[in-house]
Amino acid sequence: MKNIKAKKSLGQNFLIDPNILKKIVNEISPKSGDKIIEIGPGYGALTALLSESGAEIIAVEIDKSLAKNLKFQNVKILNTDFLKLNLAELAEQQKLRIVGNIPYNITSPIIFKLLEEREIIEDAVFLIQNEVAQRIKAKPFTKEYGILSVILQCFAEVKYCFKVSPNVFKPKPKVDSAVIHLYFQKHKPCTNEKLFIEVVKAAFSHRRKTLKNSLMNSIFKNCNFKNIDFDLNRRAEELSIKDYVYLTERIKELKHDGKRIEDTTARRNSG
Ligand code: SAM
Repeated sequence: MKNIKAKKSLGQNFLIDPNILKKIVNEISPKSGDKIIEIGPGYGALTALLSESGAEIIAVEIDKSLAKNLKFQNVKILNTDFLKLNLAELAEQQKLRIVGNIPYNITSPIIFKLLEEREIIEDAVFLIQNEVAQRIKAKPFTKEYGILSVILQCFAEVKYCFKVSPNVFKPKPKVDSAVIHLYFQKHKPCTNEKLFIEVVKAAFSHRRKTLKNSLMNSIFKNCNFKNIDFDLNRRAEELSIKDYVYLTERIKELKHDGKRIEDTTARRNSG
């Protein structure tokens, strides 16, 4: 990997440290019989180690000039955009495991795609920006606690594995990174997940204000909150995941212009 050329627009920061590569592979612990999707193999540093495990690997690389040079045993290379990939088609009857040193600029879209498809995903190990990892694992009453923390911790068990220095990449990113492991939950935490996400987004739209204020300035502005069984004088960052699930269920019962709020959000989401 002497002549590394990196495209900033594709978030290309390649791993050059064998120890970190080994630690990431140990974390995912690939086994024969697993079906693993690697996002962004780049020059194949991680792919080479994964291929030795005997697991079935599908490596998805958007950059044609990199994809065409990747050849490993047990690895199928797809030259495409991971965000446009039909994961259900790849999964067939088997749950997928996902791994990658992922492009930092599309961390959130990748995570939201996995959340949407979590019924066919076992777990995911990602190397991401440390600041985003801190937000994902954050607890209430901290400045890092926000939309990403609540939504991810509701639908997945989150493990912060270890911090990674910029020195292990080429080119070096300006910030620290971290490895996280997400174990997707099988249970459904609430009866309307789309509404839950809308409630969390509305609550954090003005995080310093009371929930009442934030909700009244959101898509829920026409709801009558007068008799709701929830203390709306609290602030977004004070609520636990359980509180958000409970609040969603209470909002679901409210009427919105004479209709159930659940029906109006479902219609908006379907376009
Ligand atoms: N895995 C390699 C490594 O650790 O050295 C490369 C990691 S680099 C941070 C991210 C990789 O993702 C790049 O190879 C980049 O071309 C690729 N990539 C960027 N956007 C992508 C997308 N939407 N779908 C698939 N691959 C993508």
